[in-house]
Amino acid sequence: MATNQKNKIISSSNFIRAKIEKDISNNLYKNKLWNKIPGNGVHQSNGSLDEAKIRTRFPPEPNGYLHIGHAKSIFLNFGLAKDFSGACHLRFDDTNPEKENQEYVDSIIENVKWLGFNWNFKKEENLYYASNYFDHMYEAAVLLIKSGFAYVDQQNADEIRENRGTLTTPGKDSPWRDHSIEDHLKWFTEMREGKHADGSMVLRAKINMASPNINLRDPAIYRIKKSHHHRTGDAWCIYPMYTFAHPIEDALEGITHSICTLEFEDQRPFYDWLLRRLKENGFFSDPLPKQYEFARLNLTYVVLSKRRLIELVEKKHVSGWDDPRMPTIVGAKRRGYTPSGFKLFTDRIGVSKADSWIDYTILEDCMREVLNESAHRRVAVLDPLKLIINNFSENHEEDCFAPNHPKNKDLGKRTIKLTKELWIDREDFMEEPVAKYFRLSPGAQVRLRYGYVIKCTDFEKDANGKIIKIFCDYLPDTKSGTPGADAIKVKGNIHWLSCKYAVTAKVNLYDRLFKETHPGDNNNYIDDLNPNSLTTKEIKIEENLSKILPGDQYQFERHGYFIADNLSKPDDIVINRTTTLRDSWQ
Ligand code: ATP
Ligand code: MG
Repeated sequence: MATNQKNKIISSSNFIRAKIEKDISNNLYKNKLWNKIPGNGVHQSNGSLDEAKIRTRFPPEPNGYLHIGHAKSIFLNFGLAKDFSGACHLRFDDTNPEKENQEYVDSIIENVKWLGFNWNFKKEENLYYASNYFDHMYEAAVLLIKSGFAYVDQQNADEIRENRGTLTTPGKDSPWRDHSIEDHLKWFTEMREGKHADGSMVLRAKINMASPNINLRDPAIYRIKKSHHHRTGDAWCIYPMYTFAHPIEDALEGITHSICTLEFEDQRPFYDWLLRRLKENGFFSDPLPKQYEFARLNLTYVVLSKRRLIELVEKKHVSGWDDPRMPTIVGAKRRGYTPSGFKLFTDRIGVSKADSWIDYTILEDCMREVLNESAHRRVAVLDPLKLIINNFSENHEEDCFAPNHPKNKDLGKRTIKLTKELWIDREDFMEEPVAKYFRLSPGAQVRLRYGYVIKCTDFEKDANGKIIKIFCDYLPDTKSGTPGADAIKVKGNIHWLSCKYAVTAKVNLYDRLFKETHPGDNNNYIDDLNPNSLTTKEIKIEENLSKILPGDQYQFERHGYFIADNLSKPDDIVINRTTTLRDSWQ
């Protein structure tokens, strides 16, 4: 699955896609009813045949900003719905009151849209909040108690843990397990009314304390938590556990394929158990949703976990969630990564059930490939060194013409002014050239790209021996694009900008955020941070970039892909390097 091969999409198909094709051809959802909005079985039975062939969902918990791992899940879920004429719901899984807030909700909505998706299907708008389902969840819990499948446990947390058993020994039944249904109903009502302290009681599913799958040893499904919720306020003091809430959310929304990461594989038996019990007592009806697991994305040199990303922001190891070094969607956007680059990336890495690490360079290659097609070319000098053309007059000014894209003529040309004093890149001159160095050195001839062939006549050093000026003669009749320009052959071709016209800008150059391939494997991951992940300097850019706007993207020839930063202003231009032209990290 992981691959270094270029220009090849390895898995346009995958096991989930194959399963969906089979489910559709077996007519599994042919009679599925849908009554316009989420609801229980009775509500849906009053609806009509669901026009969506399948329903998937992307269910982020709004407790942080989305990262590149989420992008994989977004492309998978929204992509499948699109390909199979189905609907993909955006659902905020906000059943945990403590860490969730509106800032995260807003950013997630923006990110999903930026990646090119929406949650509309025909006239439906499938944007949901799990917290809107608290009444349904409470009702489902009461039904379970009434049918003898849930009970209120009053053991404390330590006792519950001790009695859960281990992988090799079975658990022990709670002494509260076999009280009457009436008792459990009464206690659960009291839990809801706020009569008991946090942790003093918990509602558990009544399954089997001897199950070899520990997740089936009477898992907790509702706990007391006297916390304020960002949407429901203080309406509730009990909150459902994720493993109980999630299957119910899926079933209320008529989800057909509930796709999650591998950690939830052991939870699948409980997912199925719960929905079957709720179907038996009439709360839901067929077809019930099914859970499928795929391997989460692991990327070398970054961390993809909200908890760790929060720490990087809070401890100020980065400038914020949208620091261009961050593997967040907002960071990637500010870095200049594009939605089509992410699409190419997710196609290329595919979907599988085997955990693996994807090399960060695969992601960068995808961004390069996409930008190579779309980005207009410009000239920038990253390490300016002055070059003087001896045989130009002081106020010599001449137009040179540069194509905006080497392969796409339709993108047109622009003019660059050639004058007596120029900026070139320091690396384009060597006092004592090494073998195969074809750029400038004393006596050597090179072409000024889009201009004339020049010959180096002299150079000047400062008191510290640093080269500060190069002197050259230009060779008449060699101007690019004029007849006979190629009469004099040169091997080198260098970039330049007019000192009079070039614009000064600040550039941010990035290296890997972490210096280890798998941050945190051998150290605390914070210790694996690369101290040199950001270099900032002043550069010279082409005169016609003086009005560059935040978000504008270019290839600076030979230097890579660049984007104007969010904070860039006409009199204070800030540019971020998206990637170099080739992988230079080795
Ligand atoms: P984190 O571990 O970073 O907090 P999470 O899984 O808790 O992530 P959620 O908000 O619950 O984050 O995730 C929303 C969806 O994104 C889930 O369906 C989850 O499976 C998926 N997802 C999260 N991380 C990855 C990843 N690295 N690769 C693929 N999918 C992911
Ligand atoms: Mg989570």
